[in-house]
Formats: sequence, C-alpha cells, structure tokens
Amino acid sequence: MENYGALIKKQREFFSTGQTKELAFRIEALDKIRKLIKKHEKEIMIALHTDLNKSEFESYTTEIGFVLEEIRFTLKNIENWAKPRKVKTSLTGFGSKNYIMPEPYGVVLIISPWNYPFQLAIAPLIGAIAAGNCAILKPSELTPKTSELLASLIRNNFQEEYIAIVEGGVETSTALLNEKTDYIFFTGSVAVGKVIMQEAAKHLTPVTLELGGKSPCIVHKDANLRYAAKRIAWGKYINAGQTCVAPDYLYVHEDVKDEFLKLLTQSIDELYGNTLHEESQFTKIVSERHFHRLITFIRNSGTLYHGGESDAEKHLLVPTVLTDITWGDPIMEDEIFGPILPVMGYKDILQIIDEINNRPKPLALYIFSEVERVQNKVLESISFGGGCVNDTVYHFTSPHLPFGGVGESGIGAYHGKGSFDVFSHEKGIMKQTTRFDLPFRYPTTKHGLKWIKMIMK
Ligand code: NAD
Repeated sequence: MENYGALIKKQREFFSTGQTKELAFRIEALDKIRKLIKKHEKEIMIALHTDLNKSEFESYTTEIGFVLEEIRFTLKNIENWAKPRKVKTSLTGFGSKNYIMPEPYGVVLIISPWNYPFQLAIAPLIGAIAAGNCAILKPSELTPKTSELLASLIRNNFQEEYIAIVEGGVETSTALLNEKTDYIFFTGSVAVGKVIMQEAAKHLTPVTLELGGKSPCIVHKDANLRYAAKRIAWGKYINAGQTCVAPDYLYVHEDVKDEFLKLLTQSIDELYGNTLHEESQFTKIVSERHFHRLITFIRNSGTLYHGGESDAEKHLLVPTVLTDITWGDPIMEDEIFGPILPVMGYKDILQIIDEINNRPKPLALYIFSEVERVQNKVLESISFGGGCVNDTVYHFTSPHLPFGGVGESGIGAYHGKGSFDVFSHEKGIMKQTTRFDLPFRYPTTKHGLKWIKMIMK
C-alpha cells in the first residue's frame, strides 16, 4: 500500500508558512480555478461524456456552471467571511470585546464519488481553499477520464504542497485515511461513510459526510399535477437517476394516481425522447455491475408501467416507471441510484408520514401540494436533509441553502458560506480590558457571591 505520510508532511510544512491563510493567496487560487475551468470547459465536457455519456447541457448546468457559480459567490463574499466577527459581550465579560475568528484546519482530505465527478470534487475544494487550507483530493476511480483530467489540471497548476490530487480506488482511500489529516470531507455511500468515520475516529479527525439514501417524493391530491409530473420527470431522470437527491420513490394520492402517471409519461417523452437512439445524450449507467443491479430491480419489483428497455452494451437504461410497489419489493431496500421510479399509492398522508419516519432519515424529500397546511404537516413531521415544496432537486442549486443530510443521510452541510464554514474552525476570542479588574469574580471579594448571583441567574 502506498504511503502518503510524506505528502501530508509536505502540506503541513507549507501550511505552517501561513501563505494559505493570506486572503490574496486564497483569492488568487480560486480565480485560477475559475479560469482553468473556463479554459478547459470543452475537455471537461468530453471527459464527462466519455465517462457517463453526459450531454453538454447537463454537464454545464449540473457540473461546470454550478461550480463557476460557487466560485463567483465565494469570491464576492470571501473577505467578509474570512474576517473576525464581532459578537455581543455578556454581562460577565463586562469591559471586554468578543469575537469569532475563523481559522483553517490545516490539511484537509476530500474524497469524492463518480456521479457528478467534476462538481463533487471541485465544490468542496472551493470551500477548503476559501477557508485557507491545504487540500488533498481523491476523485472516484469509476470515472477515470474525469479523474485524469482533474489530476492534470491540478498538477499542472498548483504545487502539491498546497493542492494535491491522488487517483485510485479503495486502496488509495484507505492509505490516505491511515494518515492523520485535519479534516475529512467525504461524499459517497452510507456504507463507505461508516468506514470513513471509523478511520477518522482513530485520529479524532472531524468529518463531513455527504451521503445518500432513499429520498421520498409525495404527490398529494391537491397538487398541480402538470408541473409535478414535469419537475419529477426532470429531477428523477437527470443524470439517469444517479443523483444523490433524486426522488428515489414516489407516493401518489390514489385520487390522482392515474391522471398523474399519464402526465408523468408524457413529461418523460417530452424531456428525454428516445433515449436508446444512436445519438442518445442520455447519461449511461456508470458500470456493468451497477447496470445489472438495476435490470434485476425491474425484473423483480412491481409492475412495469413505462420504459424498461435497455442497451447492455452501452449501459443505457431508459426512464422507467414501476407501479404496484410495496415496501417488500427488492427495489425498496436500498437507494436505487438509477432511472427507475417505483410508485406507491396512498389514501392517508398521516400513514405515509409514519412509513417514512420508520426508515432512515432521507437526504431529500419533496412534497407537491397546493395547500400550505399539507405542506407544513409534511415538513414539520419528517426529519430530512433538505428538499423542496412543489419541485425536486433544485434546493441543491442555491448557495444560500445549506446542503447536507441528517441521521444516516449524512453529517454536516455545505454550499455557499456553508462551504467556507465547513472547512473553518470558529475560534472564540475574548479580548479582556486592562482598564479595570472586576473584583467580584474572585472568591476573595467580600459579598462576591451576592454580586455574582445578581448577574448569573
Ligand atoms: P462510494 O461510497 O462507493 O465511493 C465514494 C468514494 O469513496 C470514492 O472515491 C471511492 O473510491 C471511495 N471508497 C469506496 N470504498 C471505500 C472504502 N472502503 N474505504 C475508503 N474509501 C472508499 O460512493 P459512489 O458509488 O461513488 O457514489 C454513490 C453514492 O454517493 C450514493 O449513495 C449517493 O447517494 C452518494 N452521493 C451523495 C452525495 C451528497 O452530496 N450527499 C452526492 C453524490 C453522491
């Protein structure tokens, strides 16, 4: 197994020079990344197309454009975020000044997955740089072209004592995790998240775990069905369903189920057309193993309502809808991570709230309803990472909303200022006055306790 001790030591030494903490240095690095992305936009698109058959539209909106927006937002606000923040002085601290000083952790490790292999590697890196850290990036081995391109962009433009990239699979991750770093930011599956936390615990390294799970989508009887159908078709099948916040399964009220399903198939055809076509721009399934797992779901769960066709050679699977699903079906055991939408009907929304609450807390949840009482009931009764009312996936795109899971769907959140905060330790500082010295804080003061009790009650 490779030893990354020397690399981490190099980064630690560079971090201790203090350069990465200088605001101008951070801004320059972020700006360099922005320019690199713009300059190599075409190559990034080609890599994403080779690895996942991503269309240029999806590559730009969900990977390149998203990251450029994050950089723009960070550059606009970094000065404010990085400076010490004054806070109120409590009565016990009378005479002092109090403030919070964000400071970088040092050397941070970022491990990313394959489904948005560019965005999910670079977005955390932006936060790490903005906060003033050194970083080591470990992209996914399942998208080798993107990983190779990321490696060449980083290696040719940054000294490795500042930003390093290490390509490889489980063994590489394991070797990196053997070493002590100061923060670990992991995006991936729940199962591997548990491994990461265990490894981090050995060094007491803090972690952010951006994980997955089964994210429910509810269409209530009072929903705007046309918009619901289109927005669900978009959010579910974008990236061929290989999106951590894709609606995993659907609950549709029985009163509107038939009408909704018709609208859903119309939307699928309208948005995606013939996805097995020679020139198809539909994202492919990342590997043969993943592809066969999905095909087995279609064979073993519910009734095929729409789609189901596939091209095993190209790993293409068309947008598929399954009905007559129960919680006992194999497809309901784990996160699907593919273009298959299992649909269940319901009559009582309270019953499905219970069903969702009996399972691990989801990363996302979507509720389609025109009635605020229904929306609020769902939002207030179920704990989940984040989500939308009358839309899917879109909450991910706002730099003003924290993005992350809760319970088994993850620990911590990022995006926008959240990305800066994740990679910063908040140091609380009290700057005490030397103009006077409050006597009653000392046990030797006469009636000190009486005074203290007037302040601390
Ligand atoms: P994964 O957990 O298999 O792999 C993620 C990363 O961890 C890869 O870089 C991989 O090389 C590494 N890894 C794999 N096994 C490891 C091990 N035993 N020890 C150390 N490192 C290991 O995940 P994936 O298949 O690449 O991605 C899909 C999963 O990621 C889904 O569950 C999805 O929901 C989740 N995801 C979450 C988010 C989010 O933001 N919350 C985003 C995208 C994907």
